[in-house]
Amino acid sequence: MAGSLPAAVGFLAEIRPDGGPPLRPDFASLGGRTELAEDTGGQSLRAVLLHSGAPDGAHARDRGRTVVFAGELYNRDELARLLPAGLSPDSDAALVLALFGSYDVHAFRLLNGRFAALVAAGERVVLATDHAGSVPLYASVAAGRVLAATEAKALRAATGGQPLPARPVRRLTGVHQVPAGTVLDVRVSTAECVAHRTWAPPLARRIVSENEAVETVRQVLDRAVRVRTGPDTPLVVLSGGIDSSSVAALSAHRSAGRIETVSMGTEEADEFPQARVVATHLGSAHREITVSMADLLRQLPHAVWAAESLDPDIVEYLLPLTALYLRLEGSGRRILTGYGADIPLGGMHREDRLPQLDTAVCHDMATFDGLNEMTPVLSQISGHWSTHPYWDRDVLDVLVALEAGLKRRYGQDKWVLRAAMGDLLPHEVVIRPKLGVHEGSGVTAAFTRLLTDAGVPDQQVHRAKELVVQELFDHVVVAGRHPDEVKTGEVVEQVAERLASGATAAL
Ligand code: ATP
Ligand code: MG
Repeated sequence: MAGSLPAAVGFLAEIRPDGGPPLRPDFASLGGRTELAEDTGGQSLRAVLLHSGAPDGAHARDRGRTVVFAGELYNRDELARLLPAGLSPDSDAALVLALFGSYDVHAFRLLNGRFAALVAAGERVVLATDHAGSVPLYASVAAGRVLAATEAKALRAATGGQPLPARPVRRLTGVHQVPAGTVLDVRVSTAECVAHRTWAPPLARRIVSENEAVETVRQVLDRAVRVRTGPDTPLVVLSGGIDSSSVAALSAHRSAGRIETVSMGTEEADEFPQARVVATHLGSAHREITVSMADLLRQLPHAVWAAESLDPDIVEYLLPLTALYLRLEGSGRRILTGYGADIPLGGMHREDRLPQLDTAVCHDMATFDGLNEMTPVLSQISGHWSTHPYWDRDVLDVLVALEAGLKRRYGQDKWVLRAAMGDLLPHEVVIRPKLGVHEGSGVTAAFTRLLTDAGVPDQQVHRAKELVVQELFDHVVVAGRHPDEVKTGEVVEQVAERLASGATAAL
């Protein structure tokens, strides 16, 4: 498969003093599976690596210490400068191993990437997420045994997990999600666990001139797009909104050949004309994929299976993308998205007042953790690797920290981004108002209709959506059913009946 994909996209690992029964984890992600068995300073490490053809790059070992790494780093060049001259690791796992040797857990404060990692070193197991927790990581820890996996469903069979300084996963007793930007340092024999935060969103705001803000945003985003673009032709999922159009424009600007773009819509709604304007302007090889609304709603269980999210709004955003990824033929594509720009820029906020805008940004930056909005599993269910330049660590640091008046200016939302892209995109694209992916495809309206048609009163629709997502989660994550076996319509009927009879308290 494509050599430009990360060495591994997921893993399950177990550390205990002795071996144990074979590991047979459930994953929604597609990929080859390679088993790893090593002695790490007196403990036995066994792992299943999910990979796209080159699993050797997903683990590294030196003097009784092993790193298991899923995902990729975006600041390799900077990191390499920290290593002794002559040392040039041949994989991200080896780079992390070398940095861990010098900095211990603080190595994770240095990394800009999209990854989940584990370091096994004798009695110690270190579990780490990237700054945004963009590759989810789950753990079950008991005295004498640590299990960690990039999908919660892979830990379904784990028993005896003790409380951790982390979020418990619904109905998977003892399974916790490692927080975003966090390292858990665990002692295997006692299950003692210390958490270290390695990143937090900036709380202060920078006052800079328009020009400086615009130049900084352009530079940092350009770099984020460049480091995410492998040797193959970039593929951008394009709506024609400013966020994805900017990513496509920067990709095209950097790329020697034609980039590829793809848009999805339903028979009820699409943004095809808007995306076409951008594709024509950039000269991209562009495709439109139409998914029937009935098929889209049938794939709700797939979105929950991939994202392992319990938030109905997030699942609504992710559903059209899940459907799009499922229809991308072939496998092993590297996909760039415009996902997530609205969070640091307050793009969902549609009014002029700055205090409210910054309140929205603060709230969203304080509450994204655990929603799994950025998870790569969404595209991995069809074997593709997706990555989001706006959630690059350096881009986030810049965008969050700009004072609100640079985000909302001259009556426009996301002003600084629009201004930064003025020379690369047509004016009509630069000033196009935001349209959320769930709105542009008509998903929100259709999901609502499905519930009201089943008898749910308007004022209970949001609660009903929450219950449907919980129920789907219980089927495809907790009970381990394949999403093809779970019928959205049946779950909707059951939820509607329960709501009507008032029997939802225990859910
Ligand atoms: P804006 O926020 O200004 O509407 P946008 O459409 O690019 O810009 P979102 O609406 O937040 O961003 O959507 C998130 C991302 O999901 C997009 O940047 C794009 O990568 C992808 N996306 C959204 N809608 C579609 C679509 N219809 N087809 C393909 N990709 C889409
Ligand atoms: Mg949009």
